[in-house]
Amino acid sequence: AFRTATALPPPRIDYRGIVENVVKKSNNALNRKASLPTGAIDDVARMYTEFKRLTNTLNAKRNARSVVGERIRKSAGEGDLEAKNTALTEAAQLKLEVSELEAILAQVEHQLLTLALAIPNDTHPDSPLGPESSAITVSTHGPEPLPSNPERDHVAICRKFGLLDLESGSTVTGSSWYYLLNEAALLEIALTNYAISVALKHGFTPVVTPDVVRSDIASRCGFQPRDDSDPPMAQMYHINTPPASPELVLSGTSEIPLAGMFANKVFPSTTLPLKVVGVGHAFRAEAGARGADTRGLYRVHQFTKVELFAVTTAEGSESMVKDILNVQKTIIGSLGFPFRVLNMPTEELGASAYQKYDIEGWMPGRGNWGELSSLSNCTDYQARRLHIRYRLQHPNTSSGEEATPATTSTALPFAHTLNGTAAAIPRLIVALLENGAIYNEQGELTGIHLPAVLKPFWIGPENARGF
Ligand code: AMP
Repeated sequence: AFRTATALPPPRIDYRGIVENVVKKSNNALNRKASLPTGAIDDVARMYTEFKRLTNTLNAKRNARSVVGERIRKSAGEGDLEAKNTALTEAAQLKLEVSELEAILAQVEHQLLTLALAIPNDTHPDSPLGPESSAITVSTHGPEPLPSNPERDHVAICRKFGLLDLESGSTVTGSSWYYLLNEAALLEIALTNYAISVALKHGFTPVVTPDVVRSDIASRCGFQPRDDSDPPMAQMYHINTPPASPELVLSGTSEIPLAGMFANKVFPSTTLPLKVVGVGHAFRAEAGARGADTRGLYRVHQFTKVELFAVTTAEGSESMVKDILNVQKTIIGSLGFPFRVLNMPTEELGASAYQKYDIEGWMPGRGNWGELSSLSNCTDYQARRLHIRYRLQHPNTSSGEEATPATTSTALPFAHTLNGTAAAIPRLIVALLENGAIYNEQGELTGIHLPAVLKPFWIGPENARGF
């Protein structure tokens, strides 16, 4: 699929890096519980050696063929028929061998690439080892957490105020599809616009992205639109498209169209970092999800998401992690409920992530912390697959500020890409309702506290419920 679905050239895997670090890469894949066939990294190293040997043989045969071609021309010119016939026989034999070798090489290259694409990114030395429970809490912020209290359950609050229609969602689409009503609909608009406004203040350029993407672009970003597991657990919705048109999926995150925007381009280093804030819908099949998490708005199939995305030089991505985290903390921190920043462990890293920080918010109705945002430094993983590169340029050079097509150059460094959630709307609504519920002296729910930062973005009339 990666060859035919788009005009993009095949991904550029760092094979030498794999061959030279087989043990390190194998341990890394184990630490991350990556779904790789056993011995895959040894196989890649072996196949790459074989690929190089075959390439050398092929080149030697092609050279021999041009030498023989020269002999044919020379002997024809001299009228030496015998020499010419001998050379013609050799040329025919070489032609056969070249085309056989080309076919073998194409097959080896395809197998090599398919296997190598399944290898996850390397891991930051500071990332903890293990499953979700090994996450390190880096910092905790905001007020003292309210005690767990089932009365603060967001579904109950929504019911009382008529904020959520799960029944119509179920009738029209299916379970875990929903309608936001009244103040919840206005909250989505206010949160979206507020998050964008903070990103703009931090120098991000606003973008509204397509929600439908080529399955090839999703793969190149490190997502697996196809899933071979049994039973199938595909995490993306596929769209039926006419025969011969590219395979399309509903994007699981606007990280995919945002990354794709920079594909096949070379940026002068002086124009980096590039920072964009995208607004789109995220579609999640959430196959296999069950239990308490699927109640109400916590885990749904479609949600609006404001996403931060950056392209940096290789040296610039570590400091961009801090910049994006700072934007995320500013947004969530101003909403007035307790939250904490977590350095996520190896088994929680997506294939593309070198390092990941999550922010969790306290949700007293659920009686638990809930993930609100995620930030991943993908280093050159996506850039190698999407061909996002840069040309080193001194700060004072004024020429060449325009990005050029990547195909014109091969030896340029790959950029680094990063993505982070600015606002995943339903979970923010859960946290706002469960923490912001106001009760009167009789213990009756009377309203919801609307954070001051959202007031300029609130387009509804003020009302008795506190909104
Ligand atoms: P991810 O791209 O999976 O890291 O998700 C980004 C953010 O979206 C998460 O931190 C959650 O806040 C939110 N999120 C992820 N999946 C869902 C879902 N199925 N329903 C609602 N929110 C979600």
